[in-house]
Amino acid sequence: MEFALTWEQQALKELVRDFVESELMPLERTVIAREAQLGLGDADLLTPEEIARLNNRARELGLWGLNLPTEYGGQGLGMLALCLAEEELAKTITPYLFPPDAPNLDFLLACANEDQKERYLLPYARGEKISAIAATEPGAGSDVAAMQTTAVRDGNEWVINGTKIFISRAKRADFFIVMAVTDPVKRNRGGITAFLVDQGTPGLVVGRPIPTMTADMRPYEVYLNNVRVPDSQVLGEVGGGFVPMSNRFGVRRLEFGARCVGMAQRMLDAMIQQANTRVTFGQPLAERQMVQAMIADSAMELQQARLLVYYTAWKADQGLGNPRLETSMVKVAATEMAQRVADRCIQIFGGMGLTKDWPWEWMYRKIRGFRIIEGPSEIHRWQISRFLTRGTASLDLPTSR
Ligand SMILES: Cc1cc2nc3c(=O)[nH]c(=O)nc-3n(C[C@H](O)[C@H](O)[C@H](O)COP(=O)(O)OP(=O)(O)OC[C@H]3O[C@@H](n4cnc5c(N)ncnc54)[C@H](O)[C@@H]3O)c2cc1C
Repeated sequence: MEFALTWEQQALKELVRDFVESELMPLERTVIAREAQLGLGDADLLTPEEIARLNNRARELGLWGLNLPTEYGGQGLGMLALCLAEEELAKTITPYLFPPDAPNLDFLLACANEDQKERYLLPYARGEKISAIAATEPGAGSDVAAMQTTAVRDGNEWVINGTKIFISRAKRADFFIVMAVTDPVKRNRGGITAFLVDQGTPGLVVGRPIPTMTADMRPYEVYLNNVRVPDSQVLGEVGGGFVPMSNRFGVRRLEFGARCVGMAQRMLDAMIQQANTRVTFGQPLAERQMVQAMIADSAMELQQARLLVYYTAWKADQGLGNPRLETSMVKVAATEMAQRVADRCIQIFGGMGLTKDWPWEWMYRKIRGFRIIEGPSEIHRWQISRFLTRGTASLDLPTSR
């Protein structure tokens, strides 16, 4: 059994760490100030110039397309590399991810035909197109298969009608992966289809931005009123959209896990520093057993979650089947761990922990969202239990071949 990172993995982690320290950390105060000014608007926290500069730097450093296969111009490094990078990126609240955004990339890689690869995957991989996924509806979130949006065939076109909610990046997206019911009886068993719908297609309307607990998570309503797309916009098989959509959610859940590990590590480092330097009643906080317990519990829980994230990403990279059990476990364990660590970090910082002079309250809010988006904890606990009680997945570790 091998627990060491390879030389390349360690080098990647350090490269991303340097990028975060030199490019992203200096923007933190600006990001916090911009969030305070934002109100209910939909301006971005980073300007287009800042994003362009960061993208250029990422490209120069070879950090573009970490898990994009090399034949599409990426690094072809897989999920573990992506998780290591996202762990480092999450140590700052400056909202930046190395393009192209992984989950929709996975959907396109799994389902796009040659023509769609030319029109969508390649420009997306080069950073020329932004995408969004439109699955959630006002009446169908956790139970996404209950969606009401329909797509009805009319000659060699499809007519899509429905309302989507909480769609991230909808305003900026060049295209959407829209999930719609094509067979109301079969639904998630062969009745849900994915469609590529370009921004500006008549009938597709991006509605109001929905402000949430942190300004970097500001999704939109999206309306589809008699949206017509040709057959060539079906992504994958007609009726076969549910499985690649679920797999795409799985990638995001793992990324969320890695980000929680990164945030928790930064907060634990800060807690240790604060405990060593802050003196009350003549003693540093580090000498108080109640503070020691907060640090010790955070360290133990963080390391457990980190190992689960790395193991799950490794398993995905080894092609040892779909780690659905593990991604659900990551989603619950890492998000709930990070929430506890954020809570303790704020507690150790006292009044300063509540202020916007430090990023801890931002992280606390951000993690709160992670416990709901991509499936609330309750759904994942339900799934984990179902896998185990039905015997469709097990906790056994794979045997080396
Ligand atoms: C900031 C943000 C960005 C998002 N981005 C996107 C996006 O880009 N594209 C997209 O399609 N969607 C997106 N979503 C939607 C997100 O994935 C859903 O909000 C999430 O899946 C939960 O669905 P819901 O909000 O409808 O909650 P519901 O399904 O109404 O569930 C509410 C609560 O009920 C409980 N619950 C529900 N079912 C069960 C059960 N079976 N057993 C026990 N308890 C249960 C849970 O506690 C849950 O939190 C986004 C949401 C947010 C907030």
